[in-house]
Order: sequence, then C-alpha cells, then structure tokens
Amino acid sequence: MTENSNFNDLFYQKKNAWESVDETESNDINLYCSSYAEFLDNSKTEREFTANAIAYLEENGFISLGNAFEAGQKLHQGDKVYYNAGNKALAAAVIGKAEMRKGMNMVGSHIDSPRLDLKPLPLYEDNELAFLKTHYYGGIRKYQWPSIPLALHGVIIRADGVKINVNIGEDADDPVFVITDLLPHLAQKQNDKKLGEAFEGEDMNVLIGSVPMENDDIKQKVKLRVLNLLNNKYKVTEKDLINAELEIVPALKARDVGLDRGLLGAYGHDDRVCSYAALKAMVESGITEKTTLCFLSDKEEIGSVGKTGAQSDLLEFVVSILMNLTNEKSSDLNVKECLFNSVMLSGDVNAAFDPAFKNVYDKSNSVFLGKGVGIAKYTGSRGKSGANDASAELLSSITSMLDEKEITWQIGELGKVDAGGGGTIAKFASMIGIDVIDIGVPLLGMHSPYEIASKIDIYMCYKAFKAFYQTV
Ligand code: MN
Ligand code: MN
Repeated sequence: MTENSNFNDLFYQKKNAWESVDETESNDINLYCSSYAEFLDNSKTEREFTANAIAYLEENGFISLGNAFEAGQKLHQGDKVYYNAGNKALAAAVIGKAEMRKGMNMVGSHIDSPRLDLKPLPLYEDNELAFLKTHYYGGIRKYQWPSIPLALHGVIIRADGVKINVNIGEDADDPVFVITDLLPHLAQKQNDKKLGEAFEGEDMNVLIGSVPMENDDIKQKVKLRVLNLLNNKYKVTEKDLINAELEIVPALKARDVGLDRGLLGAYGHDDRVCSYAALKAMVESGITEKTTLCFLSDKEEIGSVGKTGAQSDLLEFVVSILMNLTNEKSSDLNVKECLFNSVMLSGDVNAAFDPAFKNVYDKSNSVFLGKGVGIAKYTGSRGKSGANDASAELLSSITSMLDEKEITWQIGELGKVDAGGGGTIAKFASMIGIDVIDIGVPLLGMHSPYEIASKIDIYMCYKAFKAFYQTV
C-alpha cells in the first residue's frame, strides 16, 4: 500500500446494482424483462419452452442440426444450428472462427420446473365432484399449491396418432382448476401437524368438474361431463389420457412486484430465467472466436436423469455431430479434447437472502436481490457432497471478465452449511471434462408457485452470458 491509497480499497463490499443504473440502462432492463416475461408466460413447460425457443432460433436463421447431419451438410464459420432432443431439451450452437477442438464457450441451464404431473389414470369422481390425481415433480412444498388457480398443460397422443397440445387455464376466459384446502374453522387437527406432513402427495387432487351430465346408464355423471367436454374439445377418451404428459402449473402471469416495479414475480423463473438469457445472448452474439453452445436441459428438478437430462450423452452427441460436420475429426479423442478445452457457465438460480428467514442464511456469504448476477463456486450438501467445485483459476477468469465488462455480480452459498443444500447440472458437465461454474439469478421463494427475482439481476445474467459467449 502506498501512503495515498484509500484504506477502503482493502475491503470488499457488495453493491446494490440499482445505484449505478442510468436512464438508458433502466430502459434496457425493462425492455429485456418484459420480453422475458412474455416468453415465460408462453413457456410454462419444458415442451412449450423448447417449441418457443426453436421458433425464436429459426426466426434468427438457425437450422436443424439433425437435418443437416442426415443430409451430410457441411457447417462453416457463422453457421447457426439447433438440436431438438425429443421436444423437451435443446442445444443450439454458432460455429466460431477457431477449431472446435480448442474448446467451446457454453452456457447450460434447465427448462423444467417443479410442478404437479398427472398420474397415468388421473380422472375420478368423488361425491359428485370430479378431480385429477397428481404426482408432484421436483422439490415442492405441498402446502403452497392448494387454493391457487392452476392450469393444465401438456400433450396427449390420441388413438389415431395425432398429438394434441393441451393448454387450459391461461387465457383470461379459460376456466382454471384448484386444489381445495381446509377452512380454518375445521383445521384444528391439521394445524397441529408438522408443515411437511399436513399435506400429503395423495391429497394433491385438482378439482376439474362439478356439473352432472344427464344419463341414466352411467353413475359417475360429473366425470362423464368432464370426459365429454374433453372429447368435444380434443376428441380424446379416458384411455387417451394414458398416452400423455400432462402437467398442472400455476395459472399465474409474470407481474411486476413492488411499487417501484423492481422485481418480477412468476412461476418457473427456475430455471427459465437463465435459459432465456442463455438463448437470447447466444442469438445476439453473432460469430465469435470460439464456437458457442447453449444447452437447455430437461429433468434437472429430478436429478438430470433420462435421455433429455444433463446426465445423458446428449451434449457429447451434439458436439460429435458439430465436429463431424465442420470437417474436424470427430473421433472420440477429438470430441474429448473439445470438451476438456471447453468452459461452461452453468446458469441456474440461487437462493437470495430473505430478511424474513435470516436464520437459514450466512449473511456474509449470501447473494441478495438487486446485487447482480450470483456466482456459486460450489453447490452440494453436508460438506460439499455432490458438488461441482469450480477452480480458483476459472473463478478468476470469470470475475475479471465481469469486472471488465462492468457487469454487476456477487458470490454466495445457498444457505448455512448445515441448513440443507442442492445441486445443478454443473457436476454432470464437469464429469465429461468441461470447466464449469454456477452463475445465475438470485430468487426469493425458489420452487414456489410464484418466485421473485430482481429485474436488474435478470438483466445482469443476460449481460454476463453474452460477454462470456464473446470471450476469446
Ligand atoms: Mn434450477
Ligand atoms: Mn430447481
């Protein structure tokens, strides 16, 4: 230290990002967040996100990698492609100037969110009311789901093979559905139960009908009317509901939260807030030195399992095709060389410090709403178990890039060491040799039907991904 240096420089302090925002940037933040909110309202399932992402990519000149591979079409610098994995996961890439074996700049995130899936045989009648049985998907707190408007989304493959897209509860004049809760007057016993035990999986039944249909032969007249309405609308029968993936999600729109409109409340920020940023930042980055890749995975909320999850070979398969079509040798060794030289930002949300629940956080190692995009060096639980733990070297390259581009960032842990834990797709990317670090948008009420994010953090996340894609 020289005599003139400011002793304050010795300290590190997180800053509120709003304090350094001018009017132009404030407009950019609002524009970005309103286009994100609109995309989110139309993308409440992984399938809807995939379909809307593909439409957006195609509008911007991206072509199907699967078709290119089938046709043996060679790819060159600047070519833009996407790979649709079963309509539920997606990878998109822009071929860069450098050889792929020297590594790619990737952003990976997930497009599934916690929700209530319908059981294979969901529909039943009880005391002249019709209900849908559900099996929850991912980590939900069950008590949060009764007494809110719910929508039904998904697909049914009809007996004639036609795939029906179902979406009921989103339009203003659509009906919605609801899980009923007990009135306080009769809840004395339930109130004595532990929060985690007061609502059971088998009780998460969604009210879908109440008006009996006139018919002398059939006893379940309310169920009959529901089936008849579904048949009128979609030409489906009860049996067709077996060949389906139907999801119950909150029938809530993304809305500004707070008088100052600094926050955005929505269902499914986790992890579409990072997925949308990953996609848009790639599309806007154009031709870069390194090939860029945006990996939007499915099934993260249940452990990144299955063919569309990040534990699958999907990413390696896509990289193999890319190398094959760019005339690089796509041998095992070359693909591995590419992966080992690649860097990924694992874009996923993290838990913002909540003043209402201070005791689960280590305040000095938390991320906060409004203090920028949040980095997590490691995840895991009970002593970093199951973590990806990014290296100091990678942290240094990412934080210096963010500083250089004046992108507000912060770093923190999920919560107190022994309070619990969690993971992302980062560890699966790291297992195939990619240098990966978690970075994303801090949330309040993660996994609830209405998650809260700060608009400035949402915007900083997008700026961070864009700067990263363009990194040489
Ligand atoms: Mn997530
Ligand atoms: Mn999650």
